[in-house]
Amino acid sequence: MTPISFEFYPPKSDEQRAQLDRAAKRLGAHAPEYVSCTFGAGGSTLSYTSETVRHLHQQHGFDAAPHLSCVGGTREEIRELLRLYRAIGCRRIVALRGDLPSGMGHPGDLRYAAELVELIRADHGDHFRIEVGAYPETHPQADSAVADLRHFKTKVDAGADAAITQYFYNADAYFRFVDDTRALGVDVPIVPGIMPISNYAQLRRFSEACGAEIPRWMDKRLQGFGDDAKAVREFAADAVAALCRRLVAGGAPALHFYTLNLARPTEAVLQRLG
Ligand code: FAD
Repeated sequence: MTPISFEFYPPKSDEQRAQLDRAAKRLGAHAPEYVSCTFGAGGSTLSYTSETVRHLHQQHGFDAAPHLSCVGGTREEIRELLRLYRAIGCRRIVALRGDLPSGMGHPGDLRYAAELVELIRADHGDHFRIEVGAYPETHPQADSAVADLRHFKTKVDAGADAAITQYFYNADAYFRFVDDTRALGVDVPIVPGIMPISNYAQLRRFSEACGAEIPRWMDKRLQGFGDDAKAVREFAADAVAALCRRLVAGGAPALHFYTLNLARPTEAVLQRLG
């Protein structure tokens, strides 16, 4: 069976906490290998991530991995967080550069995720399994696709154990990315990040921000459903399940679902995959 993992974001209100608990409970029934919790650059969200990781571990029994982005932080702040994660029992970290919120001046001590991976390895040896981000459709700020591939290799060479991709709906982009990285000598597992779809407008917003392409045929179909949420859900679950089948048949080692703290869209895909 293909291993799966789920990504959650840290809730900030009682209502959001209840939503996360409902999603974690339902999705936990699908026996994920681990779950991860996102991280927002810039202060207050630091504690939300660590609290949520602790909660997912202690209340739901998951192997829970914090995302840790280095942008905006000092080396000492990052080191302190790593010690905290180690103390609460984490064995995995998703190591990222992150994006500075607009208006936040200080870029921090580390410029790229590769430097964060180096720091984690220098301070903690092999204690943490480190996952890094990968971009089959090229990171939006990269100078070129080739430069982005080279930087990805640097990040893996710094000590990453595996990568999780940005979401995409074009399986060929993933296969090509894997082939290109293998040609450069990268041999770590590259796990596709899968974004189930529940809301077309929200998907458009996310995709514009992170540079993920919605293929024209999907975009037109989703747009055409207008306010018919049920039609969107059914079509999207079929399309995303078909993508997952193709990825697994083509050798994807696992699937990582961006749940947005909702059980239903991810479950609809998993049900179709049997
Ligand atoms: P890097 O690998 O550092 O790359 C960033 C850019 O810099 C790329 O364009 C790369 O080509 C370029 N680059 C790298 N090294 C060099 C170099 N030496 N010289 C010149 N250019 C270089 N964001 C969050 O804020 N919180 C999260 O929880 C979060 N979770 C994520 C989870 C996954 C699986 C993924 C794929 C992304 C996630 N992101 C998250 C988004 C991520 O932080 C952004 O995409 C960010 O812009 C890049 O992070 P990175 O770790 O991939 O950066």
